[in-house]
Formats: sequence, C-alpha cells, structure tokens
Amino acid sequence: MIACLGRIVQDTDADSIPDDDVSTLSESLDLQGTIESGGITGVAGKDFGGLYSVKPLALIKPSGTEDIARVINAASRTSHLTVAARGNGHSINGQAMADSGFVIDMRSTEENHFKPLTIDGSHYIDVSGGALWEDVLKRCVSVFRLAPRSWTDYLSLTVGGTLSNAGVSGQAFRFGPQTSNVTELEVVTGKGEITVCSETQNSELFFGALGGLGQLGIITRARVKLQPAPDMVRWIRVVYTEFEEFTRDAEFLVTQEEGESFDYVEGFVFSNSDDPINGWPSVPLDPDHEFNPAYIPQTAGSVLYCLEVALHYRNSDRPSTVNTAVSRLLERLGFIQRLKFQLNVSYVEFLLRVKQVEEHAKANGNWDSPHPWLNIFISKSSIVDFDRTVFRKMLKDGVGGPMLIYPLLRSKWDSRTSVVLPEGEIFYIVALLRFVPKGPTVEKLVAQNHEIIKWCNKEGLDFKLYLPHYQSKEDWKRHFGDQWTRFVERKTSFDPMAILAPGQKIFKRTHIIKP
Ligand code: FAD
Repeated sequence: MIACLGRIVQDTDADSIPDDDVSTLSESLDLQGTIESGGITGVAGKDFGGLYSVKPLALIKPSGTEDIARVINAASRTSHLTVAARGNGHSINGQAMADSGFVIDMRSTEENHFKPLTIDGSHYIDVSGGALWEDVLKRCVSVFRLAPRSWTDYLSLTVGGTLSNAGVSGQAFRFGPQTSNVTELEVVTGKGEITVCSETQNSELFFGALGGLGQLGIITRARVKLQPAPDMVRWIRVVYTEFEEFTRDAEFLVTQEEGESFDYVEGFVFSNSDDPINGWPSVPLDPDHEFNPAYIPQTAGSVLYCLEVALHYRNSDRPSTVNTAVSRLLERLGFIQRLKFQLNVSYVEFLLRVKQVEEHAKANGNWDSPHPWLNIFISKSSIVDFDRTVFRKMLKDGVGGPMLIYPLLRSKWDSRTSVVLPEGEIFYIVALLRFVPKGPTVEKLVAQNHEIIKWCNKEGLDFKLYLPHYQSKEDWKRHFGDQWTRFVERKTSFDPMAILAPGQKIFKRTHIIKP
C-alpha cells in the first residue's frame, strides 16, 4: 500500500490528483482517521496571518499518534512529500502549511489525552498536542481547581503549536515560557518514530522539540505542570508618559520574589490621541471607566505607556486584604496617579480576556482580515533606542491594534531548548499586533515590518525575532547564531529528510529515500 502511495505522489503533482484518488490515498495510508484532498482541504492552505496561501495535497485528520507516524512514514518513502502539523493555524507567515504536502489537523486529536498525575507531591496534566489551551484551562479549573502556571494572552492556540515556539504572557517573568513548564513529551519524529522524551530520557529530542518550530517532530502529548488555581484576579492598568519610568517599574516588578510582586506583568504603548483603536480609549478596562486626557502632563510626547498588572486572590480573602496588597505594590510605582484603572474578574475570565476581543473583531469583520504581525525579543540594552525611533517616530500613530511591550528574564528560559534569545538577563517582548483594515495596505505594513528589522540590524540592536520568519538559509543561520550547529545536528538526527514543517522554510526536503 505504501508503495502505491509513493507511485501516486512521485509521478503527479497535487493539482493533477483528482478527488476520487482520496480513497486510494486513504487506503495507501491505512489510517484510522480520515483524509480530505482535492478541493476540500479548506483551511489547511490558510492561516491567521492571511498573507500566504498554498494548496496541500491532502488534509489528514488523524485519530491518534499511530496515524501521524503512518503519514510521516509514507512521506519518507517518497522523494519529495512533506508533512506539516497544523495546530489551530494561528501562525502569520504560512508556518503550518505544506505546499503539495500533507497537512495534519492536530485538533482532531485534542480529546486523546487528559490525565492528571501527581508526582512527588507536584501536580501535572497529560494533554494532547492538539488540545487548545482554553480547553485545558476550563477543564483543569472546573475539574481539579488546578491550572497551568504559564500562558499565552490568547488561548485558542494548541499546546503543540505554542510549545514549538515558546508560549509567553505576563506570567513568564516568574515561571518562564510554556516551554519551561512541561516535563515530558510524546513526539513523532521525522523518521516516523514515536518517542517519549523528557529531561532525562531522549533529552536531545525533548529540548530540541521545545521551541523547535516543528522541525524535529510532531508533539502528540505534553505533560504540563499545574498549580492551585486562584478564584479571582485584580486587573490593573496604570499610565506613564516617560519610557524610562515605565521600564524601571516594569523591571522592578519582574525582578521581585514571589509574594513581593504582582502575578502578571505586561505593558503596551499607545498613541497620545483620542484614536479609538490606538489611543486613550484603548486603556480603560471597563466601558464605565473614563480616560480623562486632562490628567496627562503637558510635557507628554506622541506616545504613552501603559503597565498592565494583575494580582491573584481567593474568594475567601477579605476585600481589605486584597486592597492593602495592591496598594502596597502600587505605591512603589511612578505612574500618573489619576490614570489608574482596575477591575475584579474571575481567574478564568481574566485568562480568556482576548476571547472577547476576538468576538468583537469577528463581529466587525477584522478577525479574518490579514494580520502582518511582528514579534521581537529585544535586550534591555537596546530597548531605549528602539522606543526612541520605532515607537516614538515610525509607529507614533499606532498599528491598528495593540503594541505590547514587557520585560522577561532569561534565567527562566532553559538554554537547552531550541528557542533563541538576545543576550543579557532582562529582555523585552515587543509585539506589533496589526489589524489591517484601519491602516494602509497590507504590503505597506509588511514593508514597514521589514524596515523595522532592517533598522534594528543597522543600529546593531541586540534582538531576535519571536515566531521567526525568514526566507533564506543565511538569515536562519544568523537567527540561530551559535546555536545553528546544534539545531542542524538535531535536525539531522530526528528529521534527516527534512519532511517536517516545510512552511518554516528552514530546510529543503532531501531526496534520500528510506529503504
Ligand atoms: P500553528 O500556527 O498551527 O503552527 C505553528 C507551527 O508549529 C507550525 O510550524 C506547525 O507546523 C507547528 N506545529 C503545530 N502543532 C504542532 C505540534 N503538535 N507539534 C510540532 N509542531 C507543531 N504567542 C505567544 O507566545 N504569546 C501570546 O500571547 C500569543 N498570542 C497570540 C494571539 C493571537 C490572536 C494569535 C493569532 C497568535 C498568538 N501567539 C502568541 C502566537 C502563537 O503562539 C503562535 O502563532 C502559535 O504557533 C500558534 O499556535 P497554533 O496552535 O495555531 O499553531
């Protein structure tokens, strides 16, 4: 059967395979799950970015890990077929696509694992690589009153998709990214082998797959660390005019011990104007809160800074205790006192806060429009220069969506993973989350992203792209820097024919046919 598949795909291209070959393909692969090809591969050729589209040969909906191994093994017996795991397709630049190759819909495996464990008194949950974080949250909190420690801002992302990058949000300063909060993975390698790996077992694969951009294997199961879930969150936003004061306070908060700081620290830049998307109205947390621009000092520039923090608490905590804890932390910060906004929300509501943005954007048609986003990690030593030129000049009118900026600590990231970071203990994540319809054309915005990266290179800023996207091997080599050799060695060990994640455009499929 496998040989039959090889014959079909070697001698024809994806476009020339008629729909009725689906049954032949399906038989060849001997799947428990299903396969779709021809014109009905639908979303498999698109992603959230809306900038790229390609036509896969087929979309596979595996029933489990064995199906995934079968697809990879089948591809390895051809000279050219590739395989892309598709989490929830929330990439921007086609990273989860496979031009004329197989796309594996990981969501079809989302129910395959959900098992709590207690090891040496610590709590964990085994979940599917195709599970959405929002479902992991809801189930863990409602069933066990436990929750993962490290999140992304938006949770309709898959476990395997974020672990293949890093997974960061306002808790990462304390617990590290999501890649620092898993202890075991089950991975199907590019050789079609199903392997369980951890820090002590097959550790090269474990660390390589974390942040590995899907290059070494497909994550089918992850063991995620849990902690007791709080009931409630005090969610606070405060405003600054001076970047130096904003960064000083943000850095102060992320370097304090647990119990001496907030549980979540993020921030964003907004324009000093009444623009509904980029300006003052983007700051209040509740429609009843008013942002009064009269409180902004006359000396303020074209952009302002908002520090966003949150403190966890329990229903049993007295309001006065929570108020005292919040006041004690806020009194050490130098924000504009009258520009402070706060709200009490449930912990689950807080973590699902971007879901509301999604619903709103879907209602006004923005969610499905192109998103030429740019995410960068920038070292503390370069962040003032970046602010001066990029935020205050190039982007002073905003990007039609949030411009996030908050500090992270390198020591919370494991240098054995495949993630690459700038130098220095403190670095910032900057995320330009553009929603296009309000601004100039998509091409112009993509060009502006390139201009920003070019400027960072020209000025010698210490930075790395997060969710990187490059077209040439030279650029990828530069991105990985002194970790390139290790990454290539890992690729050679676990996916020697470069079958996996072709949409990342790092390696080209090789023609060695598996015997
Ligand atoms: P996909 O886009 O489907 O896949 C991404 C890459 O991972 C592809 O190369 C794919 O082949 C590979 N892949 C997918 N599943 C697997 C698997 N199981 N095993 C191996 N490889 C796999 N990121 C953050 O860190 N923090 C945030 O706060 C954050 N917020 C976001 C908000 C929105 C609205 C969006 C659209 C993205 C956000 N992201 C954030 C980025 C997000 O983490 C990445 O885009 C992530 O890759 C998306 O997950 P996905 O499941 O959709 O993966």
